[in-house]
Amino acid sequence: MRTVYLDNNATTQPAPAVIEAMLPFFREHWGNPSSMHAFGGRVKKYVETARAQVAALIGAEPAEILFTSGGTESDNMAIRGAVEAFGGRAHVITSRVEHPAVLEPCRWLAGQGHALTEIDVDSEGQLNLAQLRGALGEGRCVASIMWANNETGVVFPIDEIAAMVKASGGVLHTDAVQAAGKLPIDVRRTPVDMLSLSGHKLHAPKGVGAVYIRKGAKVLPLMLGGHQEGGKRGGTENVPYIVGLGKACELALGRLAGEASATAALRDRLEAGLLRTCPDARVNGDRANRLPNTTNISFQYIEGESILYHLSDAGICASSGSACTSGSLEPSHVIRAMGVPFTAAHGSIRFSLSRYNTDGDIDHVLATLPGIVEKLRRMSPFVRAPAGGR
Ligand code: PLP
Repeated sequence: MRTVYLDNNATTQPAPAVIEAMLPFFREHWGNPSSMHAFGGRVKKYVETARAQVAALIGAEPAEILFTSGGTESDNMAIRGAVEAFGGRAHVITSRVEHPAVLEPCRWLAGQGHALTEIDVDSEGQLNLAQLRGALGEGRCVASIMWANNETGVVFPIDEIAAMVKASGGVLHTDAVQAAGKLPIDVRRTPVDMLSLSGHKLHAPKGVGAVYIRKGAKVLPLMLGGHQEGGKRGGTENVPYIVGLGKACELALGRLAGEASATAALRDRLEAGLLRTCPDARVNGDRANRLPNTTNISFQYIEGESILYHLSDAGICASSGSACTSGSLEPSHVIRAMGVPFTAAHGSIRFSLSRYNTDGDIDHVLATLPGIVEKLRRMSPFVRAPAGGR
């Protein structure tokens, strides 16, 4: 059966060129980059090439990039490391719609006695900037506000947010795990202090990521151990994966504009087709400020999970909420924070595309999903309001 993979915000297919770039570091160059001997030591230059490739994707200096085990570690390191570096009570500010990799460390810090403010979003999933401005006045702050949302694709006005946080004297981290490789990022223009990215969201493998820490920003290490990564992140470097991440960043940078418009064209055709053929469907999130690859659509009066099972039977991979909240029948915290009505919240499905999707993929979904929706509606336990009454 044909597989149509539209769950790229959960994970992406490693690019063939990325796999090729990694293989020699399993077969031949498997030494430890910290070794004194030439066999190990020669591996170090490949780690440094990868560091420069990651830095280039976001306009950073190579020395401002640290390799980590992925987005979750990068988020934890930036947020906890910056708060610890304060050396006293901090005011942690985040948004209600962050990934758990940000929300959980922020809530943990609140449990340790730091103040925490979670900023609301509106019905479009956009950040309440007035609330953020108000919160910034209250003491020394570490803010963590995402670049783009993993569930809706909504892109926050990060330039404006960064200007506000910096004007208040605060420190700003941004989770750019979904933005990196999909949107242009230039930390020379956008004054964030720290930024997280993750390999498996941009066609590198799972289990590798990076955190950008602006020169001069104070962040204590999360992982204490050896002297690797300038003493800021102990642990022998995962060389093959680091090389893969570097290659993936190089590929993403070279293709950014063309890939974004091609992916957006497929996404828009999928979205328009579903809105036309499935009654009572609506898009969740600010359509004008969105990742090019993502659409989140609610099929009202039916359960998202039932839709996913039927799609899966037809070889189509999508998601409801984030991969982390899947498995629970509760609507995700993102959809709830946006105040999406109950009948729609339960039937929300995220389609997230990549460079590997084709017109044929979209045709397959458009030929399959309307029938699934119609069948499930016939069986729906929810009472449909009469036409015009909702
Ligand atoms: N942040 C966002 C916005 C994400 O979408 C994810 C993964 O879904 C993460 C962080 C966590 O990244 P990782 O899976 O590399 O730990």
